Amino acid sequence: MPDSSVLVVGGGPAGSAAAYWLARAGHQVTLVEKMEYPRDKTCGDGLTPRAIYWLEQMGFDFEVPEFHRITGLRSYAGKELYLEMSWPDHSKYPNWGGVIRRRDLDAQVAALARKQGAEVLEKTEALPKVEDGQLAAVDLVHEGETHTVKPAFVIIADGSMNRFGRELGTVRRKDYPMGMAARGYYASPRSQDPFLESQLDMRDESGANMPGYGWVFPLGDGTVNVGVGLLSTSKRWKGVNTSKMMADYVRIAPEYWELSEASKLTEPVGGKLTMSFSRSPSIGRNWLTIGDAAGAINPWNGEGISYAYETGAIAARYISEAMASGNSEVLAGYGRELDDEFGLYYKMARVFVKLIAYPSVMRSLAQVGIRSRPLMEWTLKVMSNLLDENEKSAGERAYNVLAAIVRPLPVR
Ligand SMILES: Cc1cc2nc3c(=O)[nH]c(=O)nc-3n(C[C@H](O)[C@H](O)[C@H](O)COP(=O)(O)OP(=O)(O)OC[C@H]3O[C@@H](n4cnc5c(N)ncnc54)[C@H](O)[C@@H]3O)c2cc1C
Repeated sequence: MPDSSVLVVGGGPAGSAAAYWLARAGHQVTLVEKMEYPRDKTCGDGLTPRAIYWLEQMGFDFEVPEFHRITGLRSYAGKELYLEMSWPDHSKYPNWGGVIRRRDLDAQVAALARKQGAEVLEKTEALPKVEDGQLAAVDLVHEGETHTVKPAFVIIADGSMNRFGRELGTVRRKDYPMGMAARGYYASPRSQDPFLESQLDMRDESGANMPGYGWVFPLGDGTVNVGVGLLSTSKRWKGVNTSKMMADYVRIAPEYWELSEASKLTEPVGGKLTMSFSRSPSIGRNWLTIGDAAGAINPWNGEGISYAYETGAIAARYISEAMASGNSEVLAGYGRELDDEFGLYYKMARVFVKLIAYPSVMRSLAQVGIRSRPLMEWTLKVMSNLLDENEKSAGERAYNVLAAIVRPLPVR
């Protein structure tokens, strides 16, 4: 690996996107992934129109049999009340989404990066060599053999644990929200359903309110991805057992899914969601963090795949510029662009998640909202970051009023 090249650490959505865009811009780029494709990743497997847009940009083949197309969201507030909403029309993003297992999605996107010219090394773990607090070199460990490289720049895309980044001094802001979620697979006769489904009013065995939300995402192949999640801002965060929460959700999920012990294919597996750019710094002298490593997940809805693709594409642009100019100071622009693009939107989300920290507030909002289609459709647009600046509708104006209120607030 020549010194003039870029090393990308981690081959999830963020790393593969960064490698794809760098290779496409003509740079010599090596992507290292410690696992072997196809590899599993704990996820809901749900793709919103924003994720579809980024996949389209990279030439993803949506005709593959593993991909199931989604037309919208069905939201439940309790057992009876629900609303089905189509993804909105938008001047930039498509009006459809999808569900695809991460073992398939991530292998296929890494293959797109490879096709574009990136070198993709599997079963290769990257370990930083730090001197005087700076990233001096990287050890690449493959099947017990270590090979030291000195790339010009390193893009860190090692996911929510961010072990590589932590050795360079990245820390997570504890006062920002974090998510915790678990998912499992079930066989279901309704696997062809074209809607993602969510439950906003969670109940335990006794019928008491529970914090968090539940989902069923159909995969179109006779199976569904079932999951539960909650935020660290929730008042009962510490005592929650996601496996128990999952059992409670399976009990209240609509009967048509036929979820039961008998249809369960895998035990629930959990994971952390680092959100709101809670990890910093995201820039060093010769490195950047992207995706979950930067805490890029949208706190409004727990979506991380599209933000991993997007931060990967933005980072690739700044690294390209730094390579062309020979001036690594241009990397500072990456942090500024993330702030311009997502700062206020994520700040509004932090206000929102404080409001819904109490299950009773969440329940009341869900019960009121679900009875008003315009309100819920607007909420769907806000939460999935699909408001359209070109539309100048009442919804867009309402959002701008809220943004003007939140902008000066000292929200953590
Ligand atoms: C239960 C759950 C459900 C979720 N559901 C959804 C959903 O439905 N839709 C959505 O959009 N988002 C969802 N998310 C969030 C989403 O999974 C993440 O935001 C997304 O995976 C981030 O991509 P990434 O590339 O940053 O990190 P990852 O996908 O975690 O990829 C990191 C990669 O780096 C590799 N790696 C780590 N360290 C090294 C190293 N030192 N050397 C080499 N390789 C290394 C890992 O093996 C891994 O392949 C969910 C998360 C959880 C936990």
